[in-house]
Amino acid sequence: MYTCSLDRMTDKIKTFSKFGDAGHGGITRYSLSPEAKMAREEFIKRMKAIGAEIEIDDVANIYATIPGSDPDAKRIVTGSHCDSVKNGGNYDGILGVMSAMEVLETVVEQNIPHKHPLTAMIWTNEEGSLYPPAMMVSGIVCNDYLPPEIAKNFKYENMMASKAMEAHEGSADTFGEALDASGYKGDKKYRLNPEQYLCNFEAHIEQGPILEDNGNDIGVVDCVLGMFNYSLKFTGFAAHAGTFPMDKRHDALYAASQALCYLHDEVDKLGRPELVYTTGEIYCHPCVHTVIPDEVEFSLDVRHEDPEVRAKVMEIVKDIASKKWAGCDCEIRENWKRDTVYWNEKLVGYVKEAADEAGISNQMIHSGAGHDAQFVAYMLPTTMIFVQTKDGLSHCEPEYAKPEHCTSGATVLLNAILKADAAFE
Ligand SMILES: [Zn+2]
Repeated sequence: MYTCSLDRMTDKIKTFSKFGDAGHGGITRYSLSPEAKMAREEFIKRMKAIGAEIEIDDVANIYATIPGSDPDAKRIVTGSHCDSVKNGGNYDGILGVMSAMEVLETVVEQNIPHKHPLTAMIWTNEEGSLYPPAMMVSGIVCNDYLPPEIAKNFKYENMMASKAMEAHEGSADTFGEALDASGYKGDKKYRLNPEQYLCNFEAHIEQGPILEDNGNDIGVVDCVLGMFNYSLKFTGFAAHAGTFPMDKRHDALYAASQALCYLHDEVDKLGRPELVYTTGEIYCHPCVHTVIPDEVEFSLDVRHEDPEVRAKVMEIVKDIASKKWAGCDCEIRENWKRDTVYWNEKLVGYVKEAADEAGISNQMIHSGAGHDAQFVAYMLPTTMIFVQTKDGLSHCEPEYAKPEHCTSGATVLLNAILKADAAFE
């Protein structure tokens, strides 16, 4: 059992929190922005300082590798992303990078014997905050291994053409242009691949309140929840707000609001407390205060491990589409969906054993959020480790994880990697 350094982790947290510091506790660090480049430089500087070899692939992923005792052995990789959402926190993504660095630093400092080379990694553009979609680059790198309905959303050419959502200091019009200008466009031969790599671990903050509520420092993650994302569109007709009588109206916004309340009532009747569903986006046309809306569309994001539970919600959605709402028609459209992605059972077991042996409080947990690891899981045996998050807050500036918990996460990561190193050829 080896232990990572609280002092070194605390120093990393302080240092990386400066890159993109928005002045009120959090960061805005879009992928390939000047702030993200500072984080990348710091990563490379610290990894070179322990003698790691640096490789950069053609989509700006950075790999820092220290050798193992067997020069022919495949590498064990661990890492996460260094970009953030707008006004995000100091932990989402970068904690997995700092944990990976901490693992390699501890191995070098304590001269820990290991057979396989160990690689710490930064993934490019996980959040997709400036250049959508999210998990863009793991979607590119793992494309040949993804199910076709997911792979088609991450075609290299389309990703390069992804347009910036807003103008940001030093930003380019497209992701491809940002990549070309970044100085981090390396060689395709360095991309993560199953010939050279053995398995993958990603440490991440939980981004929810379950660990804290249960008094556990670490989550042993077993899967990423399956989900579907739909749009529900309501169509009525527009008329003057002052002259058109109420009983003649087909008000699309009123229709949508009735349907949304009905949806909540019916889904809640399923009685599945672990089911989560969200309407976060709404489009109203013409969105003028003197005009009755003729078209309203809202999004629906539904997540649960069990496909049967998701299917039950889908029945409710279809039932909504088969009815009239305030005289308006409802049409539904699937945007995307994914099955639950289960992590490699052996690796999950090593994480659990490592946490138990270190005396770190832990529990099994699912991931409700998407991560690069879920795409890598189609290519390599993969698992994740979650670190307790204060008040369950993430993707916002108050996002916080205690340095002690972050260090415990790195310690579990280190010892789980050493178990995989000993067990795997
Ligand atoms: Zn993340």
